Amino acid sequence: MGVILAKMGERAETVANFFSQFNDIMMEMTMMIMALAPIGVFCLISRTFANIGFSAFIPLAKYMIGVLLALAIQCFGVYQILLKIFTGLNPIKFIKKFFPVMAFAFSTATSNATIPMSIDTLSKKVGVSKKISSFTIPLGATINMDGTSIMQGVAVVFAAQAFGIHLSPMDYVTVIGTATLASVGTAGVPSVGLVTLTMVFNSVGLPVEAIGLIMGIDRILDMTRTAVNITGDAVCTTIVAHQNGALDKKVFNESN
Ligand code: ASP
Repeated sequence: MGVILAKMGERAETVANFFSQFNDIMMEMTMMIMALAPIGVFCLISRTFANIGFSAFIPLAKYMIGVLLALAIQCFGVYQILLKIFTGLNPIKFIKKFFPVMAFAFSTATSNATIPMSIDTLSKKVGVSKKISSFTIPLGATINMDGTSIMQGVAVVFAAQAFGIHLSPMDYVTVIGTATLASVGTAGVPSVGLVTLTMVFNSVGLPVEAIGLIMGIDRILDMTRTAVNITGDAVCTTIVAHQNGALDKKVFNESN
């Protein structure tokens, strides 16, 4: 339908506007709920700690460390190996050049806001043609969210353990599928990964209330996974540019 709408242009403007405005409404609704979230989270967490006691902190700390570790492996391991194999570029140099964008994503927790800076840095410091990055970076910021799906995978294990629910190998396969789909459907703005996490929990019958437990500590994880999300987009963009002869290695090798 999207392809047809784009093809029809002005003739289908009303329908296109409907979807676009509906998207805006959903974003506004999410933002309003997120503004109320701290109060809800406070109530949920107070109840949990009143019932379980201070020992509830230990599983939460383990969850946090698990997510951060997996994100670090993805960002500094998987991506950098792919970059080296497919483009031959030096991963350490790449990280140094791209670091300001990662820091920006970390502090804002939004992939969407990072788009202009990412395109600019890739063009000026890495040597990726804007012809490629102006398509792949906005696309990646919307649908390619490895960091988000990693968090969702770990959150499922955490919730299953917290509620004493046994997950079968088939459930884990379902989680891989739904977490990937949920991250594709996640908008590149703060905390939306938590909203789409409900879909992942529902797919394997986990109680959605479990999200309340992790909401309180999600901000720092959101910041970190956003940095991972946008690094994945940048690495893929560099690989695509290299394969299409749109990567200027001279720019990359300059010490800017
Ligand atoms: N904040 C993330 C991003 O913008 C999305 C999320 O996982 O909540 O990439």
